Amino acid sequence: MSLDTSIKYLSGVGPKKAENLAKELNINTFEDLAYYFPYKHIDKSKFYFTTDITSDAVAIQLKGVINNFRMEGKGAKQRLTAKFSDEKGSIQLIWFQGIKWVMDSIVQGKEYIIFGKPSFYQGWSIAHPEIEDPMKNKGTIPIKFYPQYSTSETLKNGKINSRAIAALQKNLWSVLKNTDIKETLPGYIINKYHLMPLYEALRNIHFPVSEDALNKARARLKFEELFYIQLNILKFKTEKQQKSQGFVFKKIGDIFNTFYKNYLPFQLTGAQKRVIKEIRNDFLSGRQSNRLIQGDVGSGKTLVALMCMLIAIDNNFQTCMMAPTEILAHQHFQTIKDFLKDMPVTVEILTGTSTKKQRQKIHESLENGTLNILVGTHALIEDDVVFQNLGLAVIDEQHRFGVAQRAKLYGKNSILPPHVLVMTATPIPRTLSMTLYGDLDISVIDELPPGRKPIKTVHSYDSKRLMVFKFLKDQIALGRQVYIVYPLIEESKNFDYKDLTDGYISITRAFPQPQYNVSMVHGRLKPDEKEFEMQRFIKGETQIMVATTVIEVGVNVPNASIMVIESAEKFGLSQLHQLRGRVGRGDYQSYCILMSSFKLSADARKRLDIMCETTDGFKISEEDLKLRGPGDMDSTQQSGTPMQLKIADLIHDGGLLNIARNEALEVLEKDPSLSSQENQILKKRQIAIFNKEQHWSRIS
Ligand code: ADP
Ligand code: MG
Repeated sequence: MSLDTSIKYLSGVGPKKAENLAKELNINTFEDLAYYFPYKHIDKSKFYFTTDITSDAVAIQLKGVINNFRMEGKGAKQRLTAKFSDEKGSIQLIWFQGIKWVMDSIVQGKEYIIFGKPSFYQGWSIAHPEIEDPMKNKGTIPIKFYPQYSTSETLKNGKINSRAIAALQKNLWSVLKNTDIKETLPGYIINKYHLMPLYEALRNIHFPVSEDALNKARARLKFEELFYIQLNILKFKTEKQQKSQGFVFKKIGDIFNTFYKNYLPFQLTGAQKRVIKEIRNDFLSGRQSNRLIQGDVGSGKTLVALMCMLIAIDNNFQTCMMAPTEILAHQHFQTIKDFLKDMPVTVEILTGTSTKKQRQKIHESLENGTLNILVGTHALIEDDVVFQNLGLAVIDEQHRFGVAQRAKLYGKNSILPPHVLVMTATPIPRTLSMTLYGDLDISVIDELPPGRKPIKTVHSYDSKRLMVFKFLKDQIALGRQVYIVYPLIEESKNFDYKDLTDGYISITRAFPQPQYNVSMVHGRLKPDEKEFEMQRFIKGETQIMVATTVIEVGVNVPNASIMVIESAEKFGLSQLHQLRGRVGRGDYQSYCILMSSFKLSADARKRLDIMCETTDGFKISEEDLKLRGPGDMDSTQQSGTPMQLKIADLIHDGGLLNIARNEALEVLEKDPSLSSQENQILKKRQIAIFNKEQHWSRIS
């Protein structure tokens, strides 16, 4: 049997099932199934009693009867509950989806085996347990390492659940032989790290013969995954470096020096100085620089970028800064003008709403070289925007831009690509940034400007709203301003605006005119309306800004010192951190108030606790990955890290990632084009992976 064999030829898979597997899980061939790894194994040799449940940490197996089906709740909160009893006690079962299927297929009072992860709320319950009929599987031997696979809701309803996939794997591994699977790592690497051979590893990842074999299989497959990712990135990076010559900015001239001496209103932090130096070295290297500036919100990235732009201008080059939103572009434009005051540096802004006349003027001054700094949204990478001599492009908030846009900036100078600086306020752990931004050099601003008072964060239940309002009124009386943010799942969906508009109405009621004025900003306002509302708030004409997460990035109003986040349990950790970063920018003590309903999932509670405990963005992003990352017991698709890894886990496998990276470096150092005989395996596999995944680091 060859690994390329279409999945429809596997026993147990008909044309319909094949189609579903392809559509939902991207499983088309034997190979795809072999590489569809279980996310964990459960001990099916053991049964627990309901009375044994003392923690929600692990999924367990129980045997008993199901009774008392009941529908509870209304609308989106509607759910089916049932009572599960064994000889010692009982717990509740809950379903939010697939209710009809459950009611049709479960026979009340009959004995079932169930699996699931218990959770506690007014007693123990299990949501969406896996249910098995012990009569149907008579004769199967209980196994200690029973694989659990992720599936989609659709598949589950079509009865391809974890158990069905396990059955397919059984069929697969009864036909696949050692000789069917070609080794994907060269012998010298396998020997060096004592790795389990591929065939054995794949077999044992599904059906381990022992704990030890499972660990070895995991280690081998994780190493391979991380190794090829690194090999890809590093190969791409070295090829690009060899090719890409860059402009040299030799001098630090009048503009930079004058700004530094006479205009800079404060001392640079040590971290800012260090990062400017790192970028300055790039400018002198003769190679095109692609550098990521990572720094927590408020760490002063914009200023660093501006000072680098001044160096470019001193060397007779033009510069641009691209922001992900119109609001943010305006903010940067204003910030830069405020910093530069009457200096002889020309700054313009170009966005989707610039008028024809404005555009024309900008195009002219770009082409004749009189414009020094162009700030804008993605409007500035459009084809008709032509620079005379673009030397440095700054991109703010990378996670909103695709790599393709970065590539487009490269073409904005016909002689050589400009240097590129990417600023991101999403602090990601080193292990992750190495993987995600492996082709960028990284600088970290790991210090906040002095004198910042840490933001006080509290969690408050909706029932305490009146106390929160009282606090807001006291703060407003002291001259402070307030953000109140509502969650929006999708800015484009109508019904999502209900929470926001309801909120706005209740806020205007609680904070009536003429004493109070309230602004509202959301994604569906026209850019000029948005700008108008923002400006009213910036000028202090309104005391409260009701908004969606459109204000998440970059907005800078130092007098706003209170951030209230409604339904905070609906936000992810990094988003909460970004939102909180909108306050704490002035001299005043700032506050972040996380409002939530009383009923919280364990994860939501953990997120809110973390927010109250720390303001360190790096710590938060690590916790975030831990909460969302792989290893989660959930049986539906994991959507943790931005990059889909099959088996490795960037939190726990940092050590392995380093080893894999160093090995990849060593291999490429000895054989940059992977042309030696022993590296043919690597070359073939690397190209295959690179093409298959349309890797994010690829730039056309
Ligand atoms: P970021 O973009 O990293 O979130 P900003 O560049 O917006 O941060 O800076 C946040 C605020 O701190 C701005 O008001 C900026 O003027 C100010 N700032 C920047 N650097 C310093 C410094 N070294 N000392 C004092 N304030 C600074
Ligand atoms: Mg910023």
